[in-house]
Amino acid sequence: MRDFSHAKRIVVKVGSSTLTHASGMLNIRCVELLVKVLADIKNSGREVILVSSGAQAVGVGKLGFAEKPHDMPGKQAVAAIGQCELMYIYDKLFSEYNHITAQILLTREDVEDQVRKQNLQNAFLRLLEMRIVPVVNENDSVSTEEIEFGDNDTLSAVVCSLAGADLLIILSDIDGLYDSNPRENPNARLLHQVDELTPEVEQMASGAGSARGTGGMVTKIHAAQIATENGVDMVIMNGANPKKLYNLFEGEELGTYFPAKNRRRAD
Ligand code: GLU
Repeated sequence: MRDFSHAKRIVVKVGSSTLTHASGMLNIRCVELLVKVLADIKNSGREVILVSSGAQAVGVGKLGFAEKPHDMPGKQAVAAIGQCELMYIYDKLFSEYNHITAQILLTREDVEDQVRKQNLQNAFLRLLEMRIVPVVNENDSVSTEEIEFGDNDTLSAVVCSLAGADLLIILSDIDGLYDSNPRENPNARLLHQVDELTPEVEQMASGAGSARGTGGMVTKIHAAQIATENGVDMVIMNGANPKKLYNLFEGEELGTYFPAKNRRRAD
């Protein structure tokens, strides 16, 4: 049974395909609603960390490019442009509800090095103590293939463990994990709860990502593995209507729930 009433520290991950229109331009209605709901969830006494993708997608939209650049310097450049725009918007919208945001950008190297990892943990904990909303993304303008997480699903699970979160909510452009690809099979069935990440579950997550994001279901299952093993509950649900987050906390069986293996706060 799900019960998120005691989940105090929550990481919400939102993907590029939820934050942007097919044109690559920002989905203003969705972003505005998301910020409003998160601000309210925070007002209700929970702590919120937002892991937001979209730097590259928003950069591409801002520059009027038809698609993401394929080379690394091109990706780094559009991410640098889009990240500013994203933070500008988050900061502006959260300010309307009297919340302060802080930007944390990281790469895989930062969590593999013990000193840097500790520094990051300290920063997260102090920001939360100060009642700030940390907004996290991969540091795409310095990351290269060797040092990148590559997708924000994995990143969000790592952030849960760094910040000692209780619950990870991955907002996606799909309702959750299906037993087969719902875009190809109209009879595909949504799984409400997944207790074990078996090879069959991995098979179900046949991972085609969208044009604007980098993840698919495969990276979400990987995130579920990291989160649940670190004592963090995880839910994948549709982010198209951020108000559904209220329903989730009221106990509605939305999306796919991956219960934590052992409910303890990670290091
Ligand atoms: N870090 C990338 C960005 O902000 C997105 C990674 C992902 O889509 O998972 O554009």
